Amino acid sequence: MDNRTSSDQVDAVVVGAGFAGMYMLYRLRQDGFSVCVFERGSDVGGTWYWNRYPGARCDVESMEYSFKFSEELQQDWEWTERYATQPEILSYAEHVAERFDLRSGISFDTTVTSAVFDDQTLSWSVQTMGPIGVAKEVHAQFLIMATGCLSSTNEPAFDGLDEFQGATYHTGDWPHDRVDFADKTVGVVGTGSSGVQSIPVIAEQCRHLTVFQRTPNFTIPAHNRPLDPTEQAEIKANYHQLREANEAMTSGFGSRYPRNEISSLSVSAEEAETILEQRWADGGLSFLGAFNDLMLSEEANVVAADFVRRKLRSIVRDPTVAELLSPTQVIGCKRLCVDSGYWETFNRENVTLVDISSEPITFTSAGIKVGDVVRELDTVVFATGFDAMTGALTSAGIVGRGTQPLTKTWEAGPVNYLGLGVHGFPNLFMITGPGSPSVLTNMITAIQQHVEWIADAMNHLRQHGLTVIEPQAEAQRQWVAHVNGIADFTLFPSCNSWYLGANVPGKPRVFMPLPGYPDYKAKCNQVASNGYEGFDLE
Ligand code: NAP
Repeated sequence: MDNRTSSDQVDAVVVGAGFAGMYMLYRLRQDGFSVCVFERGSDVGGTWYWNRYPGARCDVESMEYSFKFSEELQQDWEWTERYATQPEILSYAEHVAERFDLRSGISFDTTVTSAVFDDQTLSWSVQTMGPIGVAKEVHAQFLIMATGCLSSTNEPAFDGLDEFQGATYHTGDWPHDRVDFADKTVGVVGTGSSGVQSIPVIAEQCRHLTVFQRTPNFTIPAHNRPLDPTEQAEIKANYHQLREANEAMTSGFGSRYPRNEISSLSVSAEEAETILEQRWADGGLSFLGAFNDLMLSEEANVVAADFVRRKLRSIVRDPTVAELLSPTQVIGCKRLCVDSGYWETFNRENVTLVDISSEPITFTSAGIKVGDVVRELDTVVFATGFDAMTGALTSAGIVGRGTQPLTKTWEAGPVNYLGLGVHGFPNLFMITGPGSPSVLTNMITAIQQHVEWIADAMNHLRQHGLTVIEPQAEAQRQWVAHVNGIADFTLFPSCNSWYLGANVPGKPRVFMPLPGYPDYKAKCNQVASNGYEGFDLE
């Protein structure tokens, strides 16, 4: 509870103390609102608090994956590597909390169990369960969900798992104590970004590693390296330029490698190869910026996809293994992975790849069974991802006007306006919610834009003596159609990705993030400057 708040009535409850919740708290305090933040973890950091698995690091460059709201902060903080490790990003989050006295406003080890809108008082009743099972209720005018897009772990119900005698871990909920893989036979299930990052590190530590792969993924080398202090000083001397360039990016792969504004089909095969080689040498997500139509045309996409498949075959020595690792979907359709020695790991003597694309795995007491073969394992790591974008929202017990649960409103997919609010849920804001660019851009850029828009909206209400803001049904309908229309214009819906909810059985298949951050930001600004058009203000 914010130490300046003596009662259980506050202006805003913020759920989550990752980068979104921390900045929301900072900003609302600056503007004189009383705020209470609830966080289920024992400290700040959100995704970087939970994802402590071996090899975890960010796939956005560290100089760009940080706050810009404080010049002193961005000048003082020193990053050590091109791509920061999870411990370094967590230290940064802790530093931000310390520097701006944020912990005093956050209740840790506290889960929001329900949040119900009261039609009479026009406020939210938020129920929480704190440490040692203490339940508490707080009333707030605004409910702000800063719960992250990748925070609710996907733990498939594998047959026989209860019988398994070995240890199990999920990459998204990793223990704080070091997991010892020495002399162990280990299985990793899942080959998305978390698997691709952890597999090379676990392979080096364990006796034998078996990787269970349902769908092969494209991955680009990170070419991580220590950050040169001179390079860092040069960026800091003009930090605002880098931040402005970030704001102009259509995707999150880093403003230091802007997208080439040409089609892969407009150049000769030799020229395409040269451009792709350069992007491969640059490393990371910027590979997708080699051409401007990779996510728009299958014909254009295959030029880049074939290039990466050739790289794969040149790295992996066993042609059968290379074939199994070779992705068939459009490159970029599933989130592109960024690795440090992933494909090389399959050249190791102690690593086996098992294809599970045609039948699900089951567990026995001794290990994982695929077909008739049981692979005996001491430890299994689930790198099976998240109930992305909506999982943390639908599990928070949110109930809107007329006792309508959010789960009911979102039965067929997460309808919303601007990815910021939902009709029927007054004064509810989502930071980087579905329907906004979020995971398709640099998350910290997206978070800052949302926090500032929400704080401005709250100030607008206060200045005009208004108490309620709620998306109009028609504006919401049009927004959902707009997001679907843009997604359908791209190749994103062409494969089974978590962007579509396809990784969680039974989840509605709807493309959730919105491609195109700069246009989105302009739209949000226009809505605000037109008196919050599309919202009812009471
Ligand atoms: P993910 O991309 O969803 O990958 C999950 C993996 O588990 C996939 O290979 C999936 O196979 C497999 N899987 C899921 N359910 C399964 C089942 N029932 N049986 C067998 N296999 C199953 O999750 P993630 O790797 O945790 O990454 C999620 C996102 O988090 C990333 O895309 C990225 O945005 C973010 N992330 C970023 C970083 C970074 O900054 N470098 C690191 C980690 C994560 P299918 O493909 O067949 O579904």
